[in-house]
Amino acid sequence: MQEDATELDRALEGKGRLDRVTIPAGRRSAFAAMTLAPRRRALSMSVLIGTSFYVAFAPGDAFAVPDQRHLALIFRLAIMLPIGMAVFYWLRHARCSLIRQQLVACGFHLLAVSLLALLITRSDSINALGFVFANYAVLMAMVISMALPLRLVLGLATIVVLIQGMAIAYGPLRLPVLELHNVMIAIVIMGPAMFANRTLENERRRHFLLVEREQLRQRQLAEQRDMLGRLAALDPLTDLANRRGFHAGLASDLDRLAPGAMVAMAMIDIDHFKAYNDHYGHAAGDEALRRVAQALADAARPAGRAGRMGGEEFAVFVTGLSGNELALYAERLRASVQRLMLVHHHSTTASVMTISVGVALGAAGTSETKVLLGAADAALYRAKAAGRNRVVIEGLDRPDTGVSRTG
Ligand code: GH3
Ligand code: MG
Ligand code: MG
Repeated sequence: MQEDATELDRALEGKGRLDRVTIPAGRRSAFAAMTLAPRRRALSMSVLIGTSFYVAFAPGDAFAVPDQRHLALIFRLAIMLPIGMAVFYWLRHARCSLIRQQLVACGFHLLAVSLLALLITRSDSINALGFVFANYAVLMAMVISMALPLRLVLGLATIVVLIQGMAIAYGPLRLPVLELHNVMIAIVIMGPAMFANRTLENERRRHFLLVEREQLRQRQLAEQRDMLGRLAALDPLTDLANRRGFHAGLASDLDRLAPGAMVAMAMIDIDHFKAYNDHYGHAAGDEALRRVAQALADAARPAGRAGRMGGEEFAVFVTGLSGNELALYAERLRASVQRLMLVHHHSTTASVMTISVGVALGAAGTSETKVLLGAADAALYRAKAAGRNRVVIEGLDRPDTGVSRTG
């Protein structure tokens, strides 16, 4: 994703051929999709405005082509008006490719140009040559407003120059110098028109790239926020939820439970861990913490969630177990660590690493987390006092099973 951002930055800064802003290859279809609707609208509007002008300038024929007034009226009202309306309607409703619509719109404007050119050839009035200028005005407006690709613009301009050249050749004033004027006017008009076309296209591209870059940044920020959130809730040594993550998970568990549902909290502390650290070294202590954490997390699933509360203390929150099931569950937690067989010759409890477990019971909706944790801590304290490597469940006392329940 970082690469994407640099690619967009580069595209926004860099200049393509003829100063054109280049869209990176992977985003061309997105660009085409984003600009499709405005390009279609530009086409239909150009046809609508073109038709309106064609009709609106009908009175001017009395001056430009007085001898062909009727033919001009037929061209304007009987041909261009209905065709213009039909093309406009089609551009608005047809769902075909953009290039086809561009070609049809260009065809419409070329028809307009051709009919005026035809009037020039049919009329004896010199004023008819004014249509040459009118046609170039149409061409300029088309090139600027229709958002056409450059190749189409060049093709179009060439055709218009040729049509005008023919009109002049067969017009009322057959002077060769007029052909030169035709080309000169074309160049003078097309230069600024193509410049405007390219500037607008560049702006469209730049706008697209800016929107893309903004969206990309938003996605990156959201991902970083997610990652930071996850990291802030994780203990880096054991990969278990840390105190913050454990409490967050607890809160969402409690929210999901029906009021009154049985919940239990187990507080767990490694026995004689200081001695382990002192004799086997801090690195070995860290490794032991990782292994104990993994064993507890595995044993706690699927009914419970485990977290590291700090130092060599862990907690497991579990729901949906009855009294006996809970005793077995807590015993499973205890045994999971003993089964790791992490040699600990400096423990006065056993020759391997062991844990003490204190469990408190409560009900969703009524027991406060803080109270539950406090009660579990008190049970843990009693497990330590009773000789360690054992489970004490608050409220019951059955020391003969290895599981003590006080109360
Ligand atoms: P008890 O059986 O009463 O719980 O005795 P204990 O030695 O386990 O308890 P104590 O609180 O005296 O010692 C806990 C030790 O845990 C002290 C500290 O060096 C060690 N410890 C805490 N966090 C870490 C850790 O992240 N890595 C390592 N290696 N040791 C840790
Ligand atoms: Mg401790
Ligand atoms: Mg300890």
